Amino acid sequence: MYRILRGATLVALGTLALSQLRFASAQQPLPLKHAGKPTQPSITTADLMTRLYIFADDSMMGRSAGTPGGMKGTAYIEREVRRIGLVPAGDNGTSFQAIPLYTRSFDPASNLTVNGKPLVGGTDYFALHNGGTPRSLNGAKVIFAGNAADPSTLIPAPQAAGKVVLVSGLSTGMGNRYPQALGFIAIVPAQQVPLYQRFSASTSTTMRGEGDTASTQIALAIPEASAQAFLGVPLVNARPGTIGATLGGDVLWKIADAPARNVVAILPGSDPKLRNQYVAIGAHNDHVGIRRAGAVDHDSLRAFNREAEKIFVARTGHLPSVPGSGLTPDERASIKVNTDSIRRGRQARMDSIYNGADDDGSGSMAVLEIAENFAAMRVKPKRSLLFVWHTGEELGLFGAEYFTDHPTVPRDSIVAQLNVDMIGRGDTGDIPGGNPGYLQLIGSRRLSTELGDIVESVNTSGRHGFTFDYQFDADGHPENYYCRSDHYEYARYGIPVVFMSTGDHVDYHQLTDEPQYISYPHLARVTSFLGDVAAHVANLNHRVVVDKPKPDPKGSCRQ
Ligand SMILES: [Zn+2]
Repeated sequence: MYRILRGATLVALGTLALSQLRFASAQQPLPLKHAGKPTQPSITTADLMTRLYIFADDSMMGRSAGTPGGMKGTAYIEREVRRIGLVPAGDNGTSFQAIPLYTRSFDPASNLTVNGKPLVGGTDYFALHNGGTPRSLNGAKVIFAGNAADPSTLIPAPQAAGKVVLVSGLSTGMGNRYPQALGFIAIVPAQQVPLYQRFSASTSTTMRGEGDTASTQIALAIPEASAQAFLGVPLVNARPGTIGATLGGDVLWKIADAPARNVVAILPGSDPKLRNQYVAIGAHNDHVGIRRAGAVDHDSLRAFNREAEKIFVARTGHLPSVPGSGLTPDERASIKVNTDSIRRGRQARMDSIYNGADDDGSGSMAVLEIAENFAAMRVKPKRSLLFVWHTGEELGLFGAEYFTDHPTVPRDSIVAQLNVDMIGRGDTGDIPGGNPGYLQLIGSRRLSTELGDIVESVNTSGRHGFTFDYQFDADGHPENYYCRSDHYEYARYGIPVVFMSTGDHVDYHQLTDEPQYISYPHLARVTSFLGDVAAHVANLNHRVVVDKPKPDPKGSCRQ
């Protein structure tokens, strides 16, 4: 599941190059009784454990899309897919589908000037790329537009055309307000300067696409000390409409390919008439890599987050969006004492790798287990099963977006998509209301009432014993889960989806999301259920009926 960046309006988050990072680990080894054992055709807790300890191992380096770790993770899945005997359904007869990701970073060779005077990027200004092809700033005049915090002070749009708009007060939505401006300059409060410094020095990974040629506006964040150079007068003397300095040179960017790939494979159906239709089963193979700021003590981090969660849940009744967040300063201070005592008790176990055992190692390995299980069946389901392990989910659903825009089977032949992301937790202590039969369902009736009903009836008829939590499927739910995992990319094309998850927990997007904290019985239970739902949909004598309006595939997702 990818993370919502609240308040990140001007900025794009990125990742540093691997070589710049320190490696460290606190991971425990796979219990000896499972180490090196081959998996068996049936879905078992032992197999899931064996697989997940491989897939979420530190050697996978956090499996970030566009990095060597991402390539290693997908190499494991592809090897297994081949061994199991699925039919490759990626590029050129392989099971890999290449996704055109690339990295983008500020080029220190940038030669931006104000009134002919050279500026130093990363000191005098911080440049933030907004995608597409940034408009040139060379020869442009700066215009002061007013205080963005009080829109009534801002100059009208036509006055900003062809100029670079400088505002005081942190701004959002300036691109909509001034579509004909060449770019934006925002004055950043002193305490936020280090944050912008980090953002502008980081590398962001994104996908090549139709939008790349669109002309876009660069945002420059500047410390208050730079304001006078850009304005030509002290900030206090600037009035909305004041014309400032003339810019010269330009902001330059370093661009490099960042290879990443989906793994796509088919189990052919047994019915000659129905085998050209597919039930898609998906998970995401990527996670978020290695901690940019270096290693921290695993146990202190987890103890802090646990304590923070208790306090937050006691006050609100639900988990914080991000572990360790949402506390008052007093609440935070009360926890620090506890972690200090942990540090006194024993040596630190430094950790810098985001293993993503639950997110989405659990889903990825569940899908492999299902594939292995079906491949060994004497009688296969009538429709074909299409297994897709998507990359780039954590960067913004890129792998699923690309697959559904460039499907390797006809898009209309996909009758449903079943997505699993984070299905290895959900027990008491993981989430309020958690228990061994806890499962969140999202999206299952948003396009097809029938599909939602099937999920319910398979749970009953197969005696799976799940109690479904639909709260995160509610229209407008602030956690926005419906838009935050791969299934949405299918749903936007009118393909009915089911998203299953055992939900958020204290290790979500933390260094501590490791295989020793997974509930393997719970994971096995969800895996078996997912397989049963897939078989049921694949064996229906008709396509699941779509009885709700289809969204606009190019529109934006609405929870
Ligand atoms: Zn995630």
